[in-house]
Amino acid sequence: MKIDALVERELAGLAAAGLFRTPRRIEGPQGAVVSVNGRRALCFCSNNYLGFADHPAIASAASVAISELGFGACGSRHITGSMRLHQEVEDRIAQFVQQPRALFFPTGYAANQGAIQALSVPGSLVLSDALNHASMIDGCRLGRATLKVYRHADVEHVRELLEATRGQYELRLVVTESVYSMDGDLAPLRELRALCDEHEAALFVDDAHAFGVMGDRGRGACAMLDVRPDVITGTFGKAFGCSGAFVAASAAIVAWVENRARSHVFTTAPSPALPAAALAAFDLIERADDRRAQLQEHAARLRTGLTQLGYEVIGNTHIVPLLLGAADRSTRFSELLLERGVFVHGIRPPTVAPGTSRLRITPQATHTREQIDATLRAFAELRGEV
Ligand SMILES: *Cc1c(COP(=O)(O)O)cnc(C)c1O
Repeated sequence: MKIDALVERELAGLAAAGLFRTPRRIEGPQGAVVSVNGRRALCFCSNNYLGFADHPAIASAASVAISELGFGACGSRHITGSMRLHQEVEDRIAQFVQQPRALFFPTGYAANQGAIQALSVPGSLVLSDALNHASMIDGCRLGRATLKVYRHADVEHVRELLEATRGQYELRLVVTESVYSMDGDLAPLRELRALCDEHEAALFVDDAHAFGVMGDRGRGACAMLDVRPDVITGTFGKAFGCSGAFVAASAAIVAWVENRARSHVFTTAPSPALPAAALAAFDLIERADDRRAQLQEHAARLRTGLTQLGYEVIGNTHIVPLLLGAADRSTRFSELLLERGVFVHGIRPPTVAPGTSRLRITPQATHTREQIDATLRAFAELRGEV
């Protein structure tokens, strides 16, 4: 079969299942209000939780770095070296998440995939939450560990698996997110930490959605719950409004990841603009208690309002998922909302399990109370339409 014919056949299958994706076009910056396909809309599908993505301090730190150092980093850090800003941001990250060392990555996808792949040495076991992000699943696929998947957030299942595998593996690594990106719930981090201690297992936490949002000065969900993971990862692409990510842990673990993570060793180092932006964002994040409070207030107002309208809303964090079921329902709902000036994306398989398509509604601290209420009015109008 010719390659184009094959791909066209597969694309037709996606379209028939309501799973074909084409991104909408955004003019101007990302923010609380965006221009979508030429039309102004309230943005409720972004991870720009605190509204920092278009902050002038971040933009100017990136442009100063570019004008002083140029844009390119020119090779893997093992070949062309770590630039000063890579090391400065790593020191700042380590201090912020209270771990001895950190390693900066171009994306959270690369950080998770690389760290899990590197730590999945032969003779090890990875226990992975059923709802873990694709980057963690891919790290497991690339690694050499045995993989067992536990039911989402099910501490008893983790306990059973740890008891059943006692003495069989040199290393056992429990891998979880903190705030689940599509379900908006918080993993039982304290219980998992206690279980790992009891069974001499290591705990790996991806703090992507809580980094900058939860805990004292935005230090994340682990800091908020006073849990110390053995390995923590996070992204600057969400609440920090930047781009880039990290893996933080003991000096030995980070050195191993630095030497063995394929997504670090075999890729061009991030542009110095990325760590420069992240450093500027740290200054904003640490002083953003007002924005963190505003975000939680908006999320609570949306949860209460949508529930009162009779919608099925799940989770208990700043991510507000509204369950719809069939993929085409979430697509249709998203179109109807956009016609009413509200930009919310329908989340479909393979991002979520078949039959659990949903709208993932994410307020931003920079929305106004009136904008939250206008959004609730749009949902009220659509009650019964889908
Ligand atoms: C977004 C996300 C990532 C990936 O981070 P990027 O910097 O966007 O690549 C990793 N883990 C989770 C849980 C995420 O939601």
